[in-house]
Amino acid sequence: MSLYKKPITDLKGVGQKRAEQFDKLGVHSVGELVNLYPRAYEDWTSVEKIENLQEGGTYCIRATLGTAVANSAKWGGTVISKATVYDDTGTLPLVWFNNVYISQMLVYGKEYFFFGKLTVDAYGPKMIAPTFADVSKGVGIHPVYKTTAGLSSKTIAGTVEQALALLPEQIGDPIPADIRRKYHLCGLRQALCDIHFPKTHAALEEARRRLVTEELLVLNLGMRGLRGQNRGMSGVQMPVDYSAAFEKLLPFTLTNAQKRAVADCVADIAGGTPMNRLIQGDVGSGKTAVAASLCFTAAKNGFQAAFMAPTEILARQHYETLSKLLQNTDIRVALLTGSLKESEKKQVRASLEAGDLDVVIGTHALITDKTVFHRLGLVVTDEQHRFGVAQRAKLLSKGENPHLMVMSATPIPRTLGLIIFGDLDISIIDELPPSRKPVRTVLRGTADRKKIYAFIKSEIAAGRQAFIVCPLIEEGETAGVASAEEYAAELMLHDFADIPVAVVHGKTKAEEKERIMADFAANQYGLLVATTVIEVGVDVPNASVMVIENAERFGLSQLHQLRGRVGRGQFQSYCILISDVHNAVTAERLRVMCETNDGFRIADEDLKMRGPGDFFGERQHGLPQLAIADFADTKALELSQRIADDILFTYHDLRNDELRLLKAEVDRLFRRGGHNTLN
Ligand code: ADP
Ligand code: MG
Repeated sequence: MSLYKKPITDLKGVGQKRAEQFDKLGVHSVGELVNLYPRAYEDWTSVEKIENLQEGGTYCIRATLGTAVANSAKWGGTVISKATVYDDTGTLPLVWFNNVYISQMLVYGKEYFFFGKLTVDAYGPKMIAPTFADVSKGVGIHPVYKTTAGLSSKTIAGTVEQALALLPEQIGDPIPADIRRKYHLCGLRQALCDIHFPKTHAALEEARRRLVTEELLVLNLGMRGLRGQNRGMSGVQMPVDYSAAFEKLLPFTLTNAQKRAVADCVADIAGGTPMNRLIQGDVGSGKTAVAASLCFTAAKNGFQAAFMAPTEILARQHYETLSKLLQNTDIRVALLTGSLKESEKKQVRASLEAGDLDVVIGTHALITDKTVFHRLGLVVTDEQHRFGVAQRAKLLSKGENPHLMVMSATPIPRTLGLIIFGDLDISIIDELPPSRKPVRTVLRGTADRKKIYAFIKSEIAAGRQAFIVCPLIEEGETAGVASAEEYAAELMLHDFADIPVAVVHGKTKAEEKERIMADFAANQYGLLVATTVIEVGVDVPNASVMVIENAERFGLSQLHQLRGRVGRGQFQSYCILISDVHNAVTAERLRVMCETNDGFRIADEDLKMRGPGDFFGERQHGLPQLAIADFADTKALELSQRIADDILFTYHDLRNDELRLLKAEVDRLFRRGGHNTLN
């Protein structure tokens, strides 16, 4: 019988109450219990003498109980348990709170291992709430589990130990033996035993490597499976290629990379299956023109296109770009955003439903139920990582399997991208328009502000414009707002008294922001002081200086996005990072920024330093939750990728009997994660 079918109440000491506690950890079966991996380990492999303990250090000591454990109740109901232990070098008091069982578990005169942190207060050194084990158990590496009320790590460990004893000697292994041999992966049984109770660090590493690889492999295969599903549907056909006609409307010629991306898309939409394509291109690589070309082709083929942007500013900007490009054509373009007047929205929606509009550009207003299309054939989302998979799906549901094009300027590390976008085909725009000069980036301290201001003024005098991302203040958003305004006021009073300065921050009303951005784009302002609201997409080719205060507070990818606001025209542009923080990590991060303009390299560095969460905001990538693997582990990602290729090459697909268990794991992971597929 599968251990996933065996309820944990079959284990000794697990009654209804325990089962409810385990339920909180998502564990119901013996199988799930062995997959509840420790969140950390206590290293008991080296035992320290009491006389050598230092304040703040975490130690394992071998000591004898010199007193019985004494319980005393404090006012308020807290129970304090105290005991003193000794070894041949000294004595040490131990203290526990609200754990009356301690007095029953520890026996006076007996020797134990104790593990804990040494704290020192007015009464001297002590260990607070140390964990302990019988000396007969021997020292080793002890698992630490995530706990829940009433369920201690120790109890979990004991229950896991029982569960592991139930594993049959010949346990079925999802990874076929030949693959395991080839990639030096240990067997599942050994991995499970060693991940919970490793004897050595090497054993733990081996177990971890095996389990991480398996999890990423399962994820990898699952994402590829999703892609396969989408292939099965029939989509609308847009057989005629209008991209050449569109190019004639542009004021520039497309780069080769842009041409390739357009050609990929045109080929996709001509066939009978829905396109699912990611256009990945660094900031300023010209993704909008590619999207516009596709919208044009869709419209010319008799379908409607919806272009969704994450912010009002961006939607409006795209709307202006597209309506200008298409002004002398028969294509009808409209804008639909939340800030439009109710009557305007109503009118746009009516025209969309009647089929009187061809291309609609907008924000989330596009996906509300009120928006109905006459014949939606193409969906484009800009800055895709800002939208959840669910939102994408909602917009897609407004047509009959419309084609999907998602654009991302966040250069997601290649390895991660392959998994995250496993259900998408990818075109990469790896070339900037030829007139573009790389942005020069330098790091300066706050002491250089005057010089920096003088430089900005000289650029503005030469006709250019500048951004300053103002300093952040820690106490929360309202303080941040005040600081943007105060900072700008300060500049207007002094250094920039003779230059029109605008301010935009998180609390600026949408209409106001639109107006300011439009005026800035029209060069009505020389300087724009802003919080990070200008991060995404804003296109002002005349701007040549980006100053970022408190640069150390930003992630590298965010800095790269901000820097991408300049260097978009033919002018030499500059990015000045201001920071007074000199610790090694910060210095290294900022040095990467000064050294390279390569978004991919920056994304890789960022992933190494911060993990993937920051690329997507709160769990927006729509991937299932991982139990042990880490998206930042590039090596493991690459390995899993290679193994997935190998398996699909050898077995063609997951239906092979050899892969029965692996397929079951894929199904389980995707059920557990509540994955939103596109269909
Ligand atoms: P992103 O990829 O960051 O969205 P945009 O589409 O906003 O980039 O393009 C950035 C700027 O480059 C815009 O001003 C656009 O008009 C210009 N641009 C795009 N493609 C080309 C090209 N092939 N040649 C010259 N300029 C271009
Ligand atoms: Mg863009």
